[in-house]
Parts: sequence; structure tokens; C-alpha cells
Amino acid sequence: MDMQAILDQVYAELTPRIGEGKVADYIPELAKVSPNQFGMAIATVKGDIFAVGDAGTPFSIQSISKVFMLTLALGKVGEGIWKRVGREPSGSAFNSIVQLEHESGIPRNPFINAGAIAVADVVLAGHQPKEAIGELLRFIHYVADDDSISIDKKVAKSETRTGYRNFALANFMRAFGNLDHPVEEVLGVYFHQCALSMTCRQLARAGLYLANRGVNPLTGHSVVSPKRARRISALMLTCGHYDGSGDFAYHVGLPGKSGVGGGILAIAPGDAAIAVWSPGLNKVGNSALGSAALELIAQKTGWSVFGA
Ligand code: GLN
Repeated sequence: MDMQAILDQVYAELTPRIGEGKVADYIPELAKVSPNQFGMAIATVKGDIFAVGDAGTPFSIQSISKVFMLTLALGKVGEGIWKRVGREPSGSAFNSIVQLEHESGIPRNPFINAGAIAVADVVLAGHQPKEAIGELLRFIHYVADDDSISIDKKVAKSETRTGYRNFALANFMRAFGNLDHPVEEVLGVYFHQCALSMTCRQLARAGLYLANRGVNPLTGHSVVSPKRARRISALMLTCGHYDGSGDFAYHVGLPGKSGVGGGILAIAPGDAAIAVWSPGLNKVGNSALGSAALELIAQKTGWSVFGA
């Protein structure tokens, strides 16, 4: 299978649609990003990297960071994390608050905003916010094997200024006793993790441990056990696209995690990690072109967790 040819074909097929969707504008800094960008990268477990389009342009990974923070939190408290957050798809928007009241401040899963805020609280334990952010950055450098990856402070600031819904979610959870640290500190960590700036190439490399039984094949770095890699991937499949998770599983058939920056990280277990980016979003806040691209890549490669 000529992976570069597949990427080139998908890029050519989707070129007429570049600019589709609506760039997230509730974070003012993200509203400035041009919608006319589209990149893809595939990192295979054999150690090859293929890329096309704007695969070398850094973008705000936003909610994709929730996968890395969950990995960190599982490393710290293991299965204890599930006392703080559930494992069920929410069927609601990523920033929804309604279920929190019904479920006593326990978010449905770690990939909606409320769940990720609870996970950030767990990672914060025993640290100052700056140290927790530093720990995440070191972890990203380790999994991607790239020390140049950084946090876009402007994006973090922009979201801190306008993140009213996230403040509401955090305050709500704190009222139910499901946050151990002050809301400002937890959200400081959360907004900075969301502001991680990465290229498709870097993101695909960073996700490889999930495709390769917990070990990054490029570096030999062991990140998690095979069982944990499977479990994180299971959550990506069921909850990684919010109320679009069922549709993504139906069309793409791979675990994936999206972010409102327009990126998606998808995992083809045993084969590859795929990162796609195009800032225009569909109605549920997932990259419009990115979702279409992953559907085509899955079709052309035959990759699917549901069999060939
Ligand atoms: N930082 C964003 C927010 O909290 C992340 C949301 C997303 O990527 N879906 O609203």
C-alpha cells in the first residue's frame, strides 16, 4: 500500500472543499485562523511518516490534549480516576452542563469539557499549576520525541478571558465536591493544555503509542501498558467526538479525538496514528474536512477496528 499516494489522492479529492465549515470563534484568538488550510500526516508503527498539505503548520490542538492528560492522570491515580469521571458517551455538546446536575457533578466522560476539567484537577494534585503544565509539556515532548513543541500563550489567555462556560462547569463541579483545587488553578491548567500548538506531523508521532500497544516505535519509549492503550482508544471511539461520536464511528470506524482548532487524531491499532487538520468545523464542533479526510483514508487503507 503506497501511503503517500493515498494521502495525495485524499488531498486532491478534498481540495475543492477547502474552507468548508465554520472556524471556532468563541475563543477570539482561534477566530483569527484562516479556514483555508488543510494538512494530514500518517505515522506508521513501522516508523515511516507520510504527510501532505499544511502538515507542518502548528495549530491549536484544543481538546485533543484531553487524550494526553487522561494518559497522565491514569499514570498518577490509575483506575481511581473513574471515581471522578464516567466512561459513557454524553450525547450532548462538548461544553454542556445539563448532565452534571443529574449526575452529582460527575462528568459523563473525560473528553467533554467537564470531564477534562476533572482530569486536570487530578493532574494538578501535589503541584502548582505551572508545574502541572510543565509536566504535560514534558510528557508531550517525550511522546512526540520533539522538544520544540510549545504552548501558545495568546490562545491560553484568550480563552481565559472568554471561557465563561468552562468557569461555570468548574464551579458547578466544585460545588458538588468534584474539584480539589481552586477553580482558577484548575482552569489555568486546562486552558494551557488546550493551547498546545502542534503540527499534524508532531501530533501523529505523539499518538503512535496508542497505535502500538503503548510503546512509541520510533523511540522505543514505553508510555502505557497495552491494556491501557486499548482502553484509552475505546474511550476515543465512544466519546472522542462528543455528540458526533456515533457518526464518526459509523463513517470512519477508528478511535479519534477532535479539537475545536480543527484537528483530529485518529488511531488505527497496529498500523498507524493519523493527524488531520482543517479549521472549519461542522455543527457539532468537529473539523468538517478532517472528518471527510479520515473517512477517505480509512476507506483507502482498509483500516477499521471493526474488521476489514
Ligand atoms: N478549549 C476548548 C473549550 O474548552 C476545547 C473544546 C474543544 O476542543 N472541543 O471550549
